[in-house]
Amino acid sequence: MLDLDEQPRRSPLNLILGLVALALVAVLGAAAFDRTPPAVRARLGFAPEGTLPTAVADPTPVGVVSADAETGGPAGPPAPGPSPSPPPREDHYWLIRPIGPTGNDWVDYSYPYGSRGDGTLHVHRGVEFVNGDGTPVLATATGRVLYSGDDSAQVFGAHLNYYGQLIILELDRRLDDQPVYVLYGHLSERTVASGDPVEAGQIIGHVGKTGVALGPHLHLEVRVGRNDFRATANPELWLEPYPGKGIVAGVVVGSHGDLVPEVDLEVRRADRPNLAVRARPSYPDHEVQADPYWGENFCFGDLDPGRWILLATRSGYTITTPFTVEAGRTNWLTVPVPWR
Ligand SMILES: [Zn+2]
Repeated sequence: MLDLDEQPRRSPLNLILGLVALALVAVLGAAAFDRTPPAVRARLGFAPEGTLPTAVADPTPVGVVSADAETGGPAGPPAPGPSPSPPPREDHYWLIRPIGPTGNDWVDYSYPYGSRGDGTLHVHRGVEFVNGDGTPVLATATGRVLYSGDDSAQVFGAHLNYYGQLIILELDRRLDDQPVYVLYGHLSERTVASGDPVEAGQIIGHVGKTGVALGPHLHLEVRVGRNDFRATANPELWLEPYPGKGIVAGVVVGSHGDLVPEVDLEVRRADRPNLAVRARPSYPDHEVQADPYWGENFCFGDLDPGRWILLATRSGYTITTPFTVEAGRTNWLTVPVPWR
């Protein structure tokens, strides 16, 4: 719900610092772009013994819980083990939008996957589509209803009564023989039953605010390999981009070659470098999964094609990395930073 478009947020001093940082990153970046650091190779599964980023730790509880908070995970089995092969970094836009054209079919910017929203929320394992009560919800792909019901007796998220009325689809397609699930939470009404086959675009329910939700919205979650709260992937890498839009995904790589969590990231058009178009942090360590095909620790969906810059900021110090978005695909970006 928070669109940072048209909000000038950089002071001249910060711009100067940014230029200095750009020069620095050009030096630092040469090595990082030329060779993927060993730790990152392992993290991304390039090395034979490498493993994908996995969600293994319990999220730290926080004291302030918004009514929309999604509060970490229950105890459960560890995330999938070593990757048998490197991530192929191929697009897999298997999902159409879960909201029809008469509703809001944009992913909400204020609480993206892997973020803590306004800072008071727990790490988000899905994305939101903010819509009024009763807005029809569509099957994002062809498959079968694995579950249609509430979560008053069975935990599907962080705790009982978390997603309220929910539906889980198992897609007909599988990713390298792994099942793929799409979860729809906080519904007001469900119009399919467990076991029903569904076609992409079919109405399966309606937007509501059941479970832990302040206002009506659809929570959409993708789970790969297991129907498990800890096996999520970023839906923005699964949803077909809008026509003429593209995606940027990548890794923020620190001075020791590790992925750097929770760096403040902003994207700006290169020809309007004073205007933040969108902002979000890199993923926190251990709390959400990277995509099995990308191994990213940040992602911005539905960007206009063209030249952009990404600002990575920590403790008032900003690194600027240029990138180009081509429409209709996921554009990969490595962001070297001098932090750990
Ligand atoms: Zn959500």
